[in-house]
Amino acid sequence: MIIFKHQKDLSNFLQKQVNQGATIGFVPTMGALHAGHASLISESKKHCKLTVCSIFVNPTQFNDTADFAKYPKTIESDIALLESLQTEVLYLPEVSDLYPSGTQQLEHYDLGKVADVLEGPSRPGHFQGVCQVVNRLLMAVQPHQLFMGQKDFQQCRVVARLLELTNSSVKLVTCPTLREPSGLAMSSRNMRLSEVAKQKAAAIYQALNYINSSLKPGPIQTLTEEACSILEKAGFKIDYLKVCNYYDLSETDQWNGTDVLVILIAAYIDDVRLIDNMIVSSR
Ligand code: AMP
Repeated sequence: MIIFKHQKDLSNFLQKQVNQGATIGFVPTMGALHAGHASLISESKKHCKLTVCSIFVNPTQFNDTADFAKYPKTIESDIALLESLQTEVLYLPEVSDLYPSGTQQLEHYDLGKVADVLEGPSRPGHFQGVCQVVNRLLMAVQPHQLFMGQKDFQQCRVVARLLELTNSSVKLVTCPTLREPSGLAMSSRNMRLSEVAKQKAAAIYQALNYINSSLKPGPIQTLTEEACSILEKAGFKIDYLKVCNYYDLSETDQWNGTDVLVILIAAYIDDVRLIDNMIVSSR
């Protein structure tokens, strides 16, 4: 695996590969890699000749400075995992490489409705930060395909909007969520949970499954209240638990039996904010 720290060197190398016919798959991450990230790398390797992974904890997407400061960093094991997966390229920039003019006064994207709900009000500025870094990374890597996880369902929607706004030809591939045997979605943030909290955190998956398996056409408020109590009994403080339209993420309190829905949860346990979602399976 070749590790690049500077955009210019990375771009020069990749351009040469593309000129020789390589297709580039790109997996952006914030490190503290786990099997979920590995699944994105494997997917990229299936479709593209050369896979580029980036590890960069982007300061502009953290609305909470403590969360940024506490973000886990495990660079040595990350490199070992990427090597074991035969990842061809790792881009490991410093803040100054991606933001040469600093992180103040950055561009603003018109992300529309998909960024105004769910994570939007809970984490002001988060999706602007995501787009600021993803756009810079895409400029540096110029991939053919971009691999992201359904775990961050709303983020995938926002990045799709960014690609539209920038007239990008990059193909966004959304990959399924990898889970622990308990059902807990794998996440770098799980490293901050105690063993007891990790056990209790499986309640998110139980709450998602509960709604998914019990949903019938008609009002859904009782189901969401029952799912909330599953979370609260496990010790979660709920930020949101919503059932939304799959396509535009508008919240719904009724199901007509045909619309595709997605259930989304953000909740705190041990002061760690976890998110997860489930697409309602067709009946
Ligand atoms: P992160 O390092 O958390 O920014 O995540 C980098 C990429 O990995 C994003 O596209 C995430 O959606 C994806 N990802 C995170 N957790 C999982 C998981 N459990 N399964 C699949 N993909 C994931």
